[in-house]
Amino acid sequence: MPDELLDRLRRFTTEAFPTRRSLFRHLVDEGQRPLTLFIGCSDSRLVPHLLTGCGPGELFLVRNVGAFVPPHDQSQGFHGTAAAIEFGVLELRVKRIIVCGHSHCGGVRALYGEAPAAAPNLARWLDLGREAVLPLADPGPEALRRTEQRAVLLQLERLMDYPMVRAGVEAGELTLHGWHYVIEEGEVHVFDVERGGFVPATQAGHAGTWPYLIDAADGLDASGVPVG
Ligand SMILES: [Zn+2]
Repeated sequence: MPDELLDRLRRFTTEAFPTRRSLFRHLVDEGQRPLTLFIGCSDSRLVPHLLTGCGPGELFLVRNVGAFVPPHDQSQGFHGTAAAIEFGVLELRVKRIIVCGHSHCGGVRALYGEAPAAAPNLARWLDLGREAVLPLADPGPEALRRTEQRAVLLQLERLMDYPMVRAGVEAGELTLHGWHYVIEEGEVHVFDVERGGFVPATQAGHAGTWPYLIDAADGLDASGVPVG
């Protein structure tokens, strides 16, 4: 029986790697210097390098269920996403942080139901999106989309509680980007604080939520309805 995965690994070495050999050599010799920390949902349909046109060395990636940002607390546990944010900002000195949610997100939809009893870690993790939930028992597609967008804003607000993130933003050295990727439209919608909503990339003036004014964005969702 053919081992398809092994075939793919071999093809990387014999076909894909040779065309990028010098790039990888450079990245090994000089080290990585990505400018972007990309926090995205683990969903297999979200392909960050495809969306951004980025290649090796350009994105410092963190992915998890829902593209959630845990609180910056002092519990110092095995907080992979929090550790990546600290490393990205303090060591790599990234210039921007993208939080990218997406349409048809199973993590966000799960906020309206019960996590499996055998998945206590998942159930706890979903708490990070609870504040984005709308008071609906059976949300339709539009409500789910709004919840996905509200969840992105919630994570941006939580990012600002990271001391190194807030310091970077306030010093004008770090920009925050709230994105919602609509899979079926092939388009990222960018949250723009000044326009007060998510704007399709083809109509947006810029790719960032910057200037991120915490007072202006705090508690507002895409339609200006207070969160929570
Ligand atoms: Zn998702």
